Amino acid sequence: MRFVIAMMRHETNTFSPLPTPLSSFGRTGGHDGPFYGDEVVEAYAGTNNPIAAYLDLAREVGAEVVTPIAGEAWPGGPVADDAFETIANTICDSVVVGCDALFLDLHGAMVTGLYDDPEGRLLKRVRTVAPDLPIAVAFDFHANLSAETIENATIITGYRTYPHVDMYEAGRRAGRTLLRSLNGEIAPVIAWGSLPLLTHMLRQTPARQPMKDVMDMAIAAEAEGKVLNASVFGGFPLADHPHVGVSTVVVGDGDAGAAVQLSEALLAMAWERRADFVYPVEPAEDSIARAKALDGGPIVLVEHGDNCGAGGNQDVMAAVEEVMRQGLEDIAVSPVWDPGAVAEIIDAGVGNQIALDLGGKTDMPAINLEGRPLRVAGRVRAITDGRFTVTGPMMTGMRISLGRTAVLDCGGVEIMVSEERMEPFDLGVFRHAGIEPTQKKYLLIKSRQHFRAAFEPIAKHIVEVAGPGVCSSDYGLFPFEKLRRPIYPLDPGATR
Ligand SMILES: [Zn+2]
Repeated sequence: MRFVIAMMRHETNTFSPLPTPLSSFGRTGGHDGPFYGDEVVEAYAGTNNPIAAYLDLAREVGAEVVTPIAGEAWPGGPVADDAFETIANTICDSVVVGCDALFLDLHGAMVTGLYDDPEGRLLKRVRTVAPDLPIAVAFDFHANLSAETIENATIITGYRTYPHVDMYEAGRRAGRTLLRSLNGEIAPVIAWGSLPLLTHMLRQTPARQPMKDVMDMAIAAEAEGKVLNASVFGGFPLADHPHVGVSTVVVGDGDAGAAVQLSEALLAMAWERRADFVYPVEPAEDSIARAKALDGGPIVLVEHGDNCGAGGNQDVMAAVEEVMRQGLEDIAVSPVWDPGAVAEIIDAGVGNQIALDLGGKTDMPAINLEGRPLRVAGRVRAITDGRFTVTGPMMTGMRISLGRTAVLDCGGVEIMVSEERMEPFDLGVFRHAGIEPTQKKYLLIKSRQHFRAAFEPIAKHIVEVAGPGVCSSDYGLFPFEKLRRPIYPLDPGATR
């Protein structure tokens, strides 16, 4: 058998001002653009990603493997159309040569200049060149799924965790079911549904309610063999198109009835709890004052309005300014994205003093917000190449590159500055630069949930800090035009 295995992952925040060209699709290891051919295996085999599970399954059944392309970029603005065309054409070209199955590792919340749903478009194109090809897809928990996606896939699974620590397992679940189908053991049928529900990303993790019971119901049904695969998707709310929402996908065996019944039960439970997916926003100054009064450490301050893992610039300085204003001491700040500042700091050299305008270089016209740098002064404490390998539970084994990275010691506040963006989901982000996170009183990090993978176990307290940016928790800031309406909670009276 000949299997084609490929990856295309991007979570598009349609309000982000940051471009997403093809060259950004190789974020791991500082690679310029996607990985091709054998590079894919080199970059992803043995890591906690769906594509790694596909590679293992293919080896286990002795299949020939073709890996045309694997690309993922940090969340940001819409993907360049030529980037999507390159990825889609490379996958289709591999398929058309002839293969027995296609295994895809997709995000599901990508948007391009032209397409609201490029994943559905990709699957449709594959089906056009190979109408009966069995296709397994593992999607991110934040996928916003469409009818076109469902109609053109054979098997679909999703991550069941946020932070995403079961990415390999999601690939394994999808891949195994497709192998059983290839063997003629089963006859997969898909039932699905999507709710007009914008969940808040700080209220949608399956680790806690209200989502926990919903996900647990799906997990139990799959474990008990009532259906082949059952998945729930929290959706990615910071995007403006008709597919945004919570969705379910249930793969049944032959009989669609059981799959439809489970899909409906999952949707009904999520909808019933819709008010609990709303996040009440506390002003940042109140959160930081609350953190200042706490004992022990580390106290993790999670600034979630400018999280690059949801498309944020990672250069909004409001939270840093506020912790300085309130006089918090012994605090390390996760990387601020500012390539120009990195160059200035490197020119100054380790051990020397420098004053500069840090961050705030990016305007955010979609939400009417201008970038505002913060004037800081300090001593250059470290300069690194920004490279480390993830040892924590999320994307374990991945090689990460922050680009050139510097640490500026501004008295009680140590600020990291990097050339590339990265959501801090692994302690290596601090440790590679000589900062031991367990020894700090405070850690200020730009994240939402993914930090929990590594930082929750070491945190004495976690304090969520709201702030300006394109990941703001105030949905009133976003000029939504293309969402399906009515949608909850923008339209409180919305019905399913
Ligand atoms: Zn995600």
